Amino acid sequence: MKSKLDNRPGYIICHYAEIGTKGKNRNYFERKLKDNIRFAIKSISPGLVEKTKLIQGRLLLKLSPSGQDQLENICNVLDRIFGLAYYAPAFQIAAEMEAINDFALHLIEKEDFSNFRITTRKADQSFPVSAHRTNEIVGAHIVEQLGKKVRLKNPELNCRIDLFFQSAFIYLKRYEGPGGLPVGVSGRVALMLSGGIDSPVAGYYALKRGVNLMAIHFHSLPYTTETALDKVRELLHKLNIYQSRIKLYLVALTPIQQEILTRTAEKYRVILYRRFMFRIAEQLARQEEAHALVTGESIGQVASQTVENLAVIEEIVKMPVLRPLISMDKKEIIQVAEQIDTYKISIQPHIDCCTLFVPKHPATKAKARDVEACEAKLDIEGLVKTAVETAEMELVSSVK
Ligand code: ATP
Ligand code: MG
Repeated sequence: MKSKLDNRPGYIICHYAEIGTKGKNRNYFERKLKDNIRFAIKSISPGLVEKTKLIQGRLLLKLSPSGQDQLENICNVLDRIFGLAYYAPAFQIAAEMEAINDFALHLIEKEDFSNFRITTRKADQSFPVSAHRTNEIVGAHIVEQLGKKVRLKNPELNCRIDLFFQSAFIYLKRYEGPGGLPVGVSGRVALMLSGGIDSPVAGYYALKRGVNLMAIHFHSLPYTTETALDKVRELLHKLNIYQSRIKLYLVALTPIQQEILTRTAEKYRVILYRRFMFRIAEQLARQEEAHALVTGESIGQVASQTVENLAVIEEIVKMPVLRPLISMDKKEIIQVAEQIDTYKISIQPHIDCCTLFVPKHPATKAKARDVEACEAKLDIEGLVKTAVETAEMELVSSVK
């Protein structure tokens, strides 16, 4: 009896978000989610979870005593696991009506509330009583012992009883997960990551849809600084919370910019830089078997992001270009940046390769044929090849 009345939940029940609807892929999704959760909790400290089990549409984590001590840290990690709809620290007891009654009372009597409900879900057919009847029996017991009222809609306290795995799991609170899909189930994409506010947020949204991310950053050393590279590493480190290892390619744009500066019309410079960035990014992405590029562009935010310019920039790549922020206002983007903790890193001053050597009056409605006429003066293939070959790769990782 003593262990049943333990005050620390020994389990966490995790419910998936969209996974349930994914037909044949379901097993794969569930395993990914399970691995992601285990890995993320392990990064706090090893040995916090004794067992992870996939059962009847749920994932059950059995906490070790040290895991019980670190419940809050574990919850902080679960708040960021894409694919989780909600999770609940729960107590496991025997699936017997008397035990359930006793334990529900023990949990509830410590709470301050005036009305309540019992919500039973029965996934285990071996339990002889129906979910509805369980609600009635336990509810009546609480009314009798504590004199509280039942309220089915919007109760102050909702005591949940999940019957599965030949046990009863009881809990009073459940927490919302971030939704989305487990990272790694949706194939690989290449994030074009500047040191600015937008692209890390774009990376976050891509991760939310379950992709595996690689990152590409263009620099103009020695005109831009090493600190800008550290900034990019720091930003990726924030995304490591969702994906523990991210490959980062650092590409020198300087030789290309020098060619553009000396050989082409001033007003197309930014578009030309960006067309080169896309060409190089596409090649690096292919090398890593990534299938799409992701950018932080949003319509009309700056001169290079008019619809006309986006079209001229994008036409030179075959891969899809995903722009998760396309219709978001800067204000909304900043809110998310704050939430994922990248904002304060992004606003530290730095010079981006695209803001270097920019014309006073950049073209806002560039025409493909004018841009192509400029490019005819350049050795596109050679410049791209050198940039790809000299790109440096490193791993940004949260794994100790
Ligand atoms: P951000 O805040 O992400 O820098 P921005 O509003 O400053 O975006 P731009 O500088 O026009 O806009 O960049 C648009 C997108 O192009 C960025 O979101 C990013 O995806 C990509 N990009 C820009 N600069 C770089 C860079 N140096 N390296 C890699 N990608 C870049
Ligand atoms: Mg920028």
